[in-house]
Amino acid sequence: MRNNPYENFLKFMHKAASIMGLEPNEYLALEYPERELKVYIPLKMDDGRINVFEGYRVQHSTLRGPGKGGIRYHQNVEINDIRALAAMMTFKCAIVNIPYGGAKGGLTVNPRELSMGELERLTRKYTTAIMPFIGPEKDIPAPDVGSNSQVMDWIMDTYSANKGYPVYGVVTGKDIDVGGSLGRNEATGRGVTIIAIRTLQTLNQDIKGKRVAIQGMGNVGSTTANFLHQSGAKIIAVSDVSGGIYSEKGIDIPDVLNYLDKGRNLLEGYKGDFVRITNSELLECDCDILIPAALENQITEKNADKIKAGIIIEAANGPTSEEADAILNSKNVLVVPDILANAGGVAVSYLEWVQNLQGLLWDEDEVNDRLRKIMSKAFDEVYQNAMEYKCNMRNGAYALALKRLLAAAQKRGVHA
Ligand code: GLU
Repeated sequence: MRNNPYENFLKFMHKAASIMGLEPNEYLALEYPERELKVYIPLKMDDGRINVFEGYRVQHSTLRGPGKGGIRYHQNVEINDIRALAAMMTFKCAIVNIPYGGAKGGLTVNPRELSMGELERLTRKYTTAIMPFIGPEKDIPAPDVGSNSQVMDWIMDTYSANKGYPVYGVVTGKDIDVGGSLGRNEATGRGVTIIAIRTLQTLNQDIKGKRVAIQGMGNVGSTTANFLHQSGAKIIAVSDVSGGIYSEKGIDIPDVLNYLDKGRNLLEGYKGDFVRITNSELLECDCDILIPAALENQITEKNADKIKAGIIIEAANGPTSEEADAILNSKNVLVVPDILANAGGVAVSYLEWVQNLQGLLWDEDEVNDRLRKIMSKAFDEVYQNAMEYKCNMRNGAYALALKRLLAAAQKRGVHA
Protein backbone atom coordinates (compact mmCIF):
# COMPACT_ATOMS: atom_id res chain seq x y z
CA MET A 1 0.00 0.00 0.00
CA ARG A 2 1.16 3.49 -0.89
CA ASN A 3 1.83 5.85 2.02
CA ASN A 4 -1.32 7.97 2.54
CA PRO A 5 -0.30 11.61 2.03
CA TYR A 6 -3.31 12.91 3.97
CA GLU A 7 -2.27 10.84 7.01
CA ASN A 8 1.19 12.33 6.63
CA PHE A 9 -0.26 15.87 6.65
CA LEU A 10 -2.33 15.05 9.76
CA LYS A 11 0.75 13.76 11.58
CA PHE A 12 2.63 16.99 10.89
CA MET A 13 -0.36 19.09 11.99
CA HIS A 14 -0.83 17.05 15.19
CA LYS A 15 2.84 17.35 16.05
CA ALA A 16 2.76 21.16 15.81
CA ALA A 17 -0.55 21.34 17.70
CA SER A 18 0.90 19.31 20.55
CA ILE A 19 4.04 21.48 20.69
CA MET A 20 1.74 24.52 20.93
CA GLY A 21 -0.28 22.85 23.68
CA LEU A 22 -3.56 23.01 21.72
CA GLU A 23 -6.56 20.92 22.71
CA PRO A 24 -7.62 18.46 19.95
CA ASN A 25 -11.04 20.11 19.86
CA GLU A 26 -9.54 23.45 18.88
CA TYR A 27 -8.26 22.19 15.53
CA LEU A 28 -10.60 19.25 14.91
CA ALA A 29 -12.35 21.05 12.01
CA LEU A 30 -9.03 21.35 10.14
CA GLU A 31 -8.72 17.56 10.06
CA TYR A 32 -11.57 17.45 7.54
CA PRO A 33 -11.94 19.10 4.14
CA GLU A 34 -14.96 21.39 3.78
CA ARG A 35 -16.03 20.01 0.39
CA GLU A 36 -15.01 17.31 -2.07
CA LEU A 37 -16.21 16.89 -5.61
CA LYS A 38 -15.57 13.80 -7.70
CA VAL A 39 -16.28 13.82 -11.41
CA TYR A 40 -16.17 11.19 -14.18
CA ILE A 41 -15.37 12.60 -17.59
CA PRO A 42 -16.14 10.60 -20.75
CA LEU A 43 -13.88 11.68 -23.59
CA LYS A 44 -13.81 10.69 -27.24
CA MET A 45 -10.17 10.01 -28.05
CA ASP A 46 -8.66 10.88 -31.43
CA ASP A 47 -9.11 7.26 -32.62
CA GLY A 48 -12.84 7.28 -31.79
CA ARG A 49 -12.65 5.19 -28.58
CA ILE A 50 -14.35 6.55 -25.45
CA ASN A 51 -12.31 6.78 -22.22
CA VAL A 52 -13.71 7.83 -18.86
CA PHE A 53 -11.32 9.88 -16.72
CA GLU A 54 -11.68 10.47 -12.97
CA GLY A 55 -11.23 13.97 -11.59
CA TYR A 56 -11.47 15.84 -8.30
CA ARG A 57 -11.69 19.27 -6.74
CA VAL A 58 -11.28 19.45 -2.98
CA GLN A 59 -11.74 22.58 -0.88
CA HIS A 60 -10.00 21.95 2.39
CA SER A 61 -10.67 25.33 3.99
CA THR A 62 -12.20 28.69 3.17
CA LEU A 63 -11.55 30.08 6.65
CA ARG A 64 -9.15 32.78 5.46
CA GLY A 65 -10.54 33.33 1.96
CA PRO A 66 -11.61 31.54 -1.21
CA GLY A 67 -10.15 28.13 -2.02
CA LYS A 68 -6.82 28.27 -3.87
CA GLY A 69 -4.63 25.62 -5.36
CA GLY A 70 -3.39 23.89 -8.47
CA ILE A 71 -4.73 21.19 -10.73
CA ARG A 72 -2.60 18.07 -11.07
CA TYR A 73 -2.62 15.86 -14.16
CA HIS A 74 -0.94 12.60 -13.21
CA GLN A 75 -1.68 8.92 -13.72
CA ASN A 76 -1.43 8.11 -9.98
CA VAL A 77 -3.76 10.86 -8.71
CA GLU A 78 -6.16 9.62 -6.00
CA ILE A 79 -8.48 11.40 -3.62
CA ASN A 80 -5.99 11.24 -0.73
CA ASP A 81 -3.32 13.00 -2.80
CA ILE A 82 -5.69 15.82 -3.68
CA ARG A 83 -7.03 16.00 -0.12
CA ALA A 84 -3.48 16.32 1.26
CA LEU A 85 -2.43 18.85 -1.35
CA ALA A 86 -5.57 20.93 -0.64
CA ALA A 87 -4.85 20.93 3.09
CA MET A 88 -1.24 21.92 2.45
CA MET A 89 -2.50 24.86 0.38
CA THR A 90 -4.54 26.04 3.40
CA PHE A 91 -1.38 26.04 5.53
CA LYS A 92 0.82 27.49 2.77
CA CYS A 93 -1.49 30.46 2.14
CA ALA A 94 -1.70 31.12 5.88
CA ILE A 95 2.11 31.10 6.18
CA VAL A 96 2.64 33.67 3.42
CA ASN A 97 -0.36 35.53 4.83
CA ILE A 98 -2.41 35.88 1.66
CA PRO A 99 -6.23 35.98 1.89
CA TYR A 100 -6.95 32.49 0.63
CA GLY A 101 -8.02 29.15 1.97
CA GLY A 102 -6.77 25.93 0.42
CA ALA A 103 -8.00 23.74 -2.42
CA LYS A 104 -6.65 21.35 -5.04
CA GLY A 105 -7.87 19.54 -8.11
CA GLY A 106 -6.65 16.70 -10.22
CA LEU A 107 -7.28 14.31 -13.04
CA THR A 108 -6.06 10.71 -13.10
CA VAL A 109 -4.35 10.88 -16.47
CA ASN A 110 -0.87 10.83 -17.95
CA PRO A 111 -0.90 14.04 -20.01
CA ARG A 112 2.12 12.86 -22.01
CA GLU A 113 -0.07 10.14 -23.52
CA LEU A 114 -2.69 12.59 -24.83
CA SER A 115 -2.62 14.60 -28.04
CA MET A 116 -3.00 18.38 -27.73
CA GLY A 117 -6.58 18.07 -28.95
CA GLU A 118 -7.43 15.39 -26.37
CA LEU A 119 -5.80 17.44 -23.60
CA GLU A 120 -7.80 20.52 -24.56
CA ARG A 121 -11.14 18.66 -24.75
CA LEU A 122 -10.46 16.89 -21.44
CA THR A 123 -9.56 20.19 -19.75
CA ARG A 124 -12.68 21.92 -21.07
CA LYS A 125 -14.95 19.05 -19.95
CA TYR A 126 -13.29 18.95 -16.53
CA THR A 127 -13.81 22.73 -16.21
CA THR A 128 -17.50 22.37 -17.04
CA ALA A 129 -17.79 19.55 -14.51
CA ILE A 130 -16.26 21.58 -11.64
CA MET A 131 -17.81 24.88 -12.81
CA PRO A 132 -20.33 25.21 -9.92
CA PHE A 133 -17.44 24.80 -7.48
CA ILE A 134 -14.99 27.42 -8.81
CA GLY A 135 -14.99 31.18 -9.39
CA PRO A 136 -12.90 34.28 -8.52
CA GLU A 137 -14.62 34.62 -5.14
CA LYS A 138 -15.02 30.89 -4.49
CA ASP A 139 -12.08 28.80 -5.55
CA ILE A 140 -9.27 29.70 -7.94
CA PRO A 141 -7.29 26.90 -9.67
CA ALA A 142 -3.69 27.18 -10.93
CA PRO A 143 -1.06 24.94 -12.53
CA ASP A 144 0.48 21.98 -10.72
CA VAL A 145 2.41 18.87 -11.82
CA GLY A 146 1.33 17.93 -15.37
CA SER A 147 -0.64 21.11 -16.11
CA ASN A 148 0.60 24.48 -17.36
CA SER A 149 -0.39 27.96 -18.56
CA GLN A 150 -2.05 26.57 -21.70
CA VAL A 151 -4.32 24.40 -19.53
CA MET A 152 -5.15 27.48 -17.41
CA ASP A 153 -6.00 29.49 -20.55
CA TRP A 154 -8.49 26.78 -21.61
CA ILE A 155 -10.05 26.79 -18.13
CA MET A 156 -10.39 30.58 -18.24
CA ASP A 157 -11.92 30.41 -21.73
CA THR A 158 -14.41 27.65 -20.86
CA TYR A 159 -15.50 29.40 -17.67
CA SER A 160 -15.81 32.75 -19.49
CA ALA A 161 -17.80 31.20 -22.36
CA ASN A 162 -20.30 29.85 -19.83
CA LYS A 163 -20.59 33.22 -18.06
CA GLY A 164 -20.80 35.23 -21.27
CA TYR A 165 -17.94 37.62 -20.45
CA PRO A 166 -14.18 37.23 -19.79
CA VAL A 167 -13.40 36.20 -16.21
CA TYR A 168 -9.62 36.41 -15.81
CA GLY A 169 -9.73 36.03 -12.03
CA VAL A 170 -11.12 32.47 -12.09
CA VAL A 171 -7.70 30.90 -12.57
CA THR A 172 -4.05 31.94 -12.14
CA GLY A 173 -0.90 30.89 -13.95
CA LYS A 174 -2.36 32.01 -17.30
CA ASP A 175 -0.31 33.22 -20.25
CA ILE A 176 0.57 36.92 -20.32
CA ASP A 177 -1.70 37.46 -23.36
CA VAL A 178 -4.80 36.39 -21.43
CA GLY A 179 -4.43 37.98 -18.01
CA GLY A 180 -1.38 36.14 -16.71
CA SER A 181 1.17 37.97 -14.57
CA LEU A 182 4.78 38.64 -15.44
CA GLY A 183 6.94 36.54 -13.15
CA ARG A 184 4.31 33.86 -12.38
CA ASN A 185 5.93 31.10 -14.42
CA GLU A 186 9.25 31.44 -12.56
CA ALA A 187 7.69 32.34 -9.19
CA THR A 188 7.98 29.01 -7.39
CA GLY A 189 11.65 28.55 -8.35
CA ARG A 190 12.41 32.17 -7.51
CA GLY A 191 10.74 31.69 -4.13
CA VAL A 192 12.70 28.49 -3.44
CA THR A 193 15.91 30.40 -4.24
CA ILE A 194 14.99 33.30 -1.93
CA ILE A 195 14.31 30.77 0.85
CA ALA A 196 17.54 28.84 0.20
CA ILE A 197 19.62 32.03 0.41
CA ARG A 198 17.77 33.17 3.54
CA THR A 199 18.33 29.77 5.17
CA LEU A 200 22.07 30.01 4.55
CA GLN A 201 22.14 33.57 5.89
CA THR A 202 20.71 32.39 9.21
CA LEU A 203 23.63 29.93 9.35
CA ASN A 204 26.10 32.68 8.39
CA GLN A 205 26.82 30.89 5.14
CA ASP A 206 26.90 31.95 1.50
CA ILE A 207 25.16 30.28 -1.45
CA LYS A 208 28.29 30.70 -3.60
CA GLY A 209 29.97 27.37 -4.24
CA LYS A 210 27.38 25.34 -2.34
CA ARG A 211 26.92 21.91 -3.92
CA VAL A 212 23.25 21.40 -4.76
CA ALA A 213 21.32 18.34 -5.97
CA ILE A 214 17.85 18.83 -7.47
CA GLN A 215 15.33 16.05 -8.03
CA GLY A 216 12.85 16.96 -10.79
CA MET A 217 13.26 19.14 -13.86
CA GLY A 218 9.69 20.29 -14.29
CA ASN A 219 8.75 23.95 -13.89
CA VAL A 220 9.88 24.15 -10.25
CA GLY A 221 13.09 22.09 -10.52
CA SER A 222 14.31 23.76 -13.69
CA THR A 223 13.61 27.35 -12.62
CA THR A 224 15.19 26.66 -9.21
CA ALA A 225 18.28 25.21 -10.92
CA ASN A 226 18.50 28.29 -13.10
CA PHE A 227 18.21 30.84 -10.27
CA LEU A 228 20.54 28.96 -7.93
CA HIS A 229 23.09 28.59 -10.72
CA GLN A 230 22.85 32.36 -11.35
CA SER A 231 23.33 32.95 -7.62
CA GLY A 232 26.66 31.12 -7.71
CA ALA A 233 25.65 27.69 -6.38
CA LYS A 234 27.23 24.63 -7.98
CA ILE A 235 24.47 22.30 -9.20
CA ILE A 236 26.13 18.88 -9.10
CA ALA A 237 23.11 16.67 -9.84
CA VAL A 238 19.70 16.95 -11.48
CA SER A 239 17.12 14.35 -12.49
CA ASP A 240 13.72 13.79 -14.08
CA VAL A 241 11.48 10.72 -14.58
CA SER A 242 14.06 9.21 -16.93
CA GLY A 243 16.86 9.31 -14.30
CA GLY A 244 19.60 11.72 -13.27
CA ILE A 245 23.02 13.10 -14.11
CA TYR A 246 25.88 13.90 -11.72
CA SER A 247 29.10 15.85 -12.05
CA GLU A 248 31.39 16.79 -9.19
CA LYS A 249 32.62 19.76 -11.31
CA GLY A 250 29.04 21.05 -11.67
CA ILE A 251 26.40 20.54 -14.35
CA ASP A 252 26.19 23.04 -17.23
CA ILE A 253 22.70 24.22 -16.22
CA PRO A 254 22.07 26.70 -19.08
CA ASP A 255 22.93 23.93 -21.55
CA VAL A 256 20.64 21.38 -19.83
CA LEU A 257 17.76 23.86 -19.70
CA ASN A 258 18.27 24.81 -23.31
CA TYR A 259 18.09 21.11 -24.23
CA LEU A 260 14.97 20.44 -22.12
CA ASP A 261 13.19 23.52 -23.48
CA LYS A 262 12.97 21.99 -26.92
CA GLY A 263 9.73 20.04 -26.58
CA ARG A 264 9.03 16.99 -24.45
CA ASN A 265 12.69 16.08 -24.04
CA LEU A 266 13.93 14.03 -21.11
CA LEU A 267 17.42 13.97 -19.60
CA GLU A 268 17.98 10.43 -20.94
CA GLY A 269 18.67 11.94 -24.38
CA TYR A 270 21.03 14.65 -23.09
CA LYS A 271 24.76 14.25 -23.76
CA GLY A 272 27.65 15.83 -21.87
CA ASP A 273 30.41 15.43 -19.30
CA PHE A 274 28.71 13.66 -16.37
CA VAL A 275 27.82 10.24 -14.97
CA ARG A 276 24.30 8.81 -15.03
CA ILE A 277 22.62 8.17 -11.69
CA THR A 278 19.19 6.99 -10.60
CA ASN A 279 16.68 9.16 -8.78
CA SER A 280 17.40 7.38 -5.50
CA GLU A 281 21.15 7.87 -5.97
CA LEU A 282 20.49 11.57 -6.48
CA LEU A 283 18.67 11.80 -3.15
CA GLU A 284 21.57 10.07 -1.41
CA CYS A 285 24.43 11.85 -3.18
CA ASP A 286 27.13 13.82 -1.37
CA CYS A 287 25.91 17.43 -1.51
CA ASP A 288 25.35 20.44 0.76
CA ILE A 289 21.75 21.18 -0.21
CA LEU A 290 19.19 18.67 -1.46
CA ILE A 291 16.13 20.03 -3.26
CA PRO A 292 13.37 17.50 -3.93
CA ALA A 293 11.31 19.22 -6.65
CA ALA A 294 9.27 16.33 -8.02
CA LEU A 295 6.54 14.33 -6.28
CA GLU A 296 5.57 13.43 -2.73
CA ASN A 297 6.95 10.65 -0.54
CA GLN A 298 10.50 10.56 -1.93
CA ILE A 299 12.36 10.71 1.39
CA THR A 300 11.03 7.89 3.56
CA GLU A 301 12.22 5.74 6.46
CA LYS A 302 13.95 3.58 3.81
CA ASN A 303 16.43 6.23 2.62
CA ALA A 304 16.36 9.05 5.22
CA ASP A 305 19.32 7.59 7.03
CA LYS A 306 21.39 7.63 3.82
CA ILE A 307 20.82 11.31 3.03
CA LYS A 308 24.13 13.20 3.13
CA ALA A 309 22.90 16.75 2.62
CA GLY A 310 22.95 19.02 5.66
CA ILE A 311 20.07 21.13 4.34
CA ILE A 312 16.91 20.04 2.52
CA ILE A 313 14.72 22.63 0.84
CA GLU A 314 11.37 21.08 -0.05
CA ALA A 315 10.39 22.52 -3.42
CA ALA A 316 7.92 19.66 -4.04
CA ASN A 317 4.77 19.21 -1.97
CA GLY A 318 5.03 16.45 0.63
CA PRO A 319 8.40 14.96 -0.43
CA THR A 320 9.23 13.78 3.12
CA SER A 321 7.28 11.24 5.15
CA GLU A 322 6.73 11.93 8.83
CA GLU A 323 8.91 8.92 9.78
CA ALA A 324 11.72 10.21 7.55
CA ASP A 325 11.34 13.68 9.02
CA ALA A 326 12.01 12.28 12.50
CA ILE A 327 15.15 10.50 11.25
CA LEU A 328 16.43 13.67 9.53
CA ASN A 329 15.75 15.61 12.70
CA SER A 330 17.80 13.19 14.78
CA LYS A 331 20.66 13.59 12.26
CA ASN A 332 20.39 17.41 12.61
CA VAL A 333 19.52 17.88 8.95
CA LEU A 334 17.91 21.30 8.52
CA VAL A 335 14.65 20.76 6.62
CA VAL A 336 12.88 23.82 5.23
CA PRO A 337 9.32 22.58 4.72
CA ASP A 338 7.29 22.62 1.49
CA ILE A 339 4.55 24.88 2.90
CA LEU A 340 7.14 27.63 3.26
CA ALA A 341 9.75 26.78 0.61
CA ASN A 342 7.46 26.44 -2.41
CA ALA A 343 4.91 29.12 -1.48
CA GLY A 344 6.32 31.57 -4.06
CA GLY A 345 4.05 30.05 -6.71
CA VAL A 346 0.82 30.73 -4.89
CA ALA A 347 2.15 34.10 -3.69
CA VAL A 348 2.48 35.29 -7.29
CA SER A 349 -0.83 33.61 -8.14
CA TYR A 350 -2.28 35.97 -5.57
CA LEU A 351 -0.54 38.93 -7.26
CA GLU A 352 -1.96 37.78 -10.62
CA TRP A 353 -5.49 37.52 -9.17
CA VAL A 354 -5.21 40.99 -7.57
CA GLN A 355 -4.16 42.46 -10.93
CA ASN A 356 -7.06 40.66 -12.66
CA LEU A 357 -9.67 41.86 -10.18
CA GLN A 358 -8.39 45.45 -10.25
CA GLY A 359 -7.52 45.68 -13.94
CA LEU A 360 -3.87 46.37 -13.10
CA LEU A 361 -0.76 45.40 -15.06
CA TRP A 362 2.38 45.37 -12.92
CA ASP A 363 5.84 45.16 -14.44
CA GLU A 364 8.08 42.23 -13.58
CA ASP A 365 10.21 44.14 -11.05
CA GLU A 366 7.10 45.10 -9.11
CA VAL A 367 5.94 41.46 -8.99
CA ASN A 368 9.40 40.15 -8.04
CA ASP A 369 9.83 42.82 -5.33
CA ARG A 370 6.49 41.90 -3.80
CA LEU A 371 7.38 38.19 -3.98
CA ARG A 372 10.71 38.83 -2.26
CA LYS A 373 8.98 40.73 0.57
CA ILE A 374 6.31 38.06 1.03
CA MET A 375 8.81 35.18 1.11
CA SER A 376 11.35 36.92 3.35
CA LYS A 377 8.66 37.88 5.87
CA ALA A 378 7.22 34.36 5.86
CA PHE A 379 10.69 32.87 6.41
CA ASP A 380 11.34 35.20 9.35
CA GLU A 381 7.95 34.46 10.92
CA VAL A 382 8.41 30.70 10.59
CA TYR A 383 11.89 31.04 12.08
CA GLN A 384 10.51 33.07 15.00
CA ASN A 385 7.90 30.40 15.67
CA ALA A 386 10.55 27.69 15.58
CA MET A 387 12.50 29.71 18.19
CA GLU A 388 9.40 30.39 20.28
CA TYR A 389 8.41 26.72 20.47
CA LYS A 390 12.01 25.43 20.39
CA CYS A 391 11.19 23.20 17.46
CA ASN A 392 12.29 22.67 13.87
CA MET A 393 11.24 24.77 10.85
CA ARG A 394 8.46 22.38 9.83
CA ASN A 395 6.79 22.49 13.22
CA GLY A 396 7.35 26.26 13.30
CA ALA A 397 5.65 26.62 9.91
CA TYR A 398 2.66 24.50 10.94
CA ALA A 399 2.44 26.44 14.23
CA LEU A 400 2.38 29.81 12.44
CA ALA A 401 -0.37 28.60 10.08
CA LEU A 402 -2.38 27.08 12.92
CA LYS A 403 -2.25 30.36 14.86
CA ARG A 404 -3.59 32.30 11.87
CA LEU A 405 -6.25 29.72 11.00
CA LEU A 406 -7.50 29.38 14.55
CA ALA A 407 -7.61 33.15 14.97
CA ALA A 408 -9.84 33.36 11.86
CA ALA A 409 -12.02 30.50 13.11
CA GLN A 410 -12.41 32.17 16.47
CA LYS A 411 -13.21 35.64 15.10
CA ARG A 412 -15.69 34.26 12.55
CA GLY A 413 -17.25 32.03 15.18
CA VAL A 414 -17.29 29.03 12.87
CA HIS A 415 -17.58 26.56 15.71
CA ALA A 416 -20.83 28.07 16.97
N1 GLU B 1 0.44 24.22 -7.53
C1 GLU B 1 1.16 25.23 -6.81
C2 GLU B 1 1.31 24.84 -5.36
O1 GLU B 1 1.27 23.68 -5.01
C3 GLU B 1 0.56 26.61 -7.02
C4 GLU B 1 -0.84 26.80 -6.53
C5 GLU B 1 -1.44 28.14 -6.88
O2 GLU B 1 -0.76 28.99 -7.44
O3 GLU B 1 -2.63 28.31 -6.58
O4 GLU B 1 1.58 25.65 -4.53
